[in-house]
Amino acid sequence: MVHHSYRDFRANVLTGTTNCRDEVDRALTQIEKHQRLGAFITVCADSARTAAEQADIRFRQGKPRPLEGLIVAVKDNISTRGIRTTCASRILENFVPVYNATVVERLVDAGAIIIGKTNLDEFAMGSSNENSWFGPARNPHNEHYVPGGSSGGSAVAVAARMAHVALGSDTGGSIRQPAAFCGLVGYKPTYGRVSRYGLVAFASSLDQIGPLAHTVEDVALVLQVMSGHDSNDSTSSMLPPISPDLSPFQNGEQRPTIGIVGGTFLEGVSPEVRQWYDYTIALLKEVGYATIEVDFYSVEAWIPTYYILATAEASSNLARYDGVRYGTRIDDPADIMTATRTACFGSEVKRRIMLGTYVLSAGYYDAYYRKAQKARRWIVDNYRQIFAQCDAILLPTTPTPAFRIGEKINDPLAMYLNDILTVSANLAGIPAISLPVGRTTNGLPIGVQLQAPFNADELLLRIARDLEQWITSANASPES
Ligand code: GLN
Repeated sequence: MVHHSYRDFRANVLTGTTNCRDEVDRALTQIEKHQRLGAFITVCADSARTAAEQADIRFRQGKPRPLEGLIVAVKDNISTRGIRTTCASRILENFVPVYNATVVERLVDAGAIIIGKTNLDEFAMGSSNENSWFGPARNPHNEHYVPGGSSGGSAVAVAARMAHVALGSDTGGSIRQPAAFCGLVGYKPTYGRVSRYGLVAFASSLDQIGPLAHTVEDVALVLQVMSGHDSNDSTSSMLPPISPDLSPFQNGEQRPTIGIVGGTFLEGVSPEVRQWYDYTIALLKEVGYATIEVDFYSVEAWIPTYYILATAEASSNLARYDGVRYGTRIDDPADIMTATRTACFGSEVKRRIMLGTYVLSAGYYDAYYRKAQKARRWIVDNYRQIFAQCDAILLPTTPTPAFRIGEKINDPLAMYLNDILTVSANLAGIPAISLPVGRTTNGLPIGVQLQAPFNADELLLRIARDLEQWITSANASPES
């Protein structure tokens, strides 16, 4: 397996104890050995070996670039030139893009090596990675459990040490939730700070690309390279790249105030998740953070608002798959479009296209879509009020730990409710991160989530780094 972090790996390359070619071979061996986990849709063995040899030359010349030799797994809804990009859909099963997503271009330019394209829920729609044309991905901590979704394959690749980091996309929690289920750090940036150019659109006003890794430091390293303005994305922020100061808070330095939740807000949260959430609050207080209980009065609107807006945007974005211009075609002379879409979209994608078309239809637009837009504004206002009282918010990432494969697949509503704690950050466009904090009694990881105001990515990462350190040094048992 590959090193736990890119930082450790790089240090070892610099002292001559390892090299990039060996590390890539370790990644490929691990991928081969654990094929059953379903992490990858496409593995780029040859190009990765070649890139590793070039990276070793740069190291030997003493000129390594910032991410030289970083092994990255890329979610298969992010375009890679010459490497098929399927979105885990039959409709794009053999689609090979002619250009790289901006994030891919930037990482490769900085020396990163693409090891392959990871499994996901079809078009990133799902929370379990079970909606994939290529079959499910499995949780490396227990194969009978889901790794989370939709960036399930990305989480598996990093957790099972097949890559140093992975890219995911987060429309309603798809980076943070699998990170929590697999024991990783997962980061959703402020909307606009990472380019969406080359990300296959699901719900454009919510989608963001972000990294999954074992450490906050690796997450920050990758973000620094891939964030920043991109003229190819009209929603791209003009701010400079995210470049946080991760130094610990000094003794005399005032620590940020953290908003916490309690009471009815946590009613649907499982006891073990609750226990580790309370543990994290206690830890924060112990090391000198002030906490304040905040009022999420908009919480009941989160899931309905998200699922109306996300499906509306999806129904429009997915209209481009007509069997004529892109991807797989079912050559039915009577009606190519219907035949193709019927045969090549999975049932969750169809459900969302129908739901989205319905909420946008002339007769129901005001009742659903327009109302959801108003609710979104109300949710943003709720956050604004909360951030007037605190610098960041601590929440659980998910209401439960990973669930069993098959447990929720026939109950879409139960699946949707799993997103209750993540979708609000997308609706508000704010940055959010999931950190591993502990485990259930049967060994499944549990995460906590930090959220910060719009564009406060740097502060969020600094707090996350600080908390990560305290969690690691307390070495985690909620009873102790
Ligand atoms: N689970 C959510 C959904 O199914 C979020 C997906 C995502 O963030 N891509 O829509």
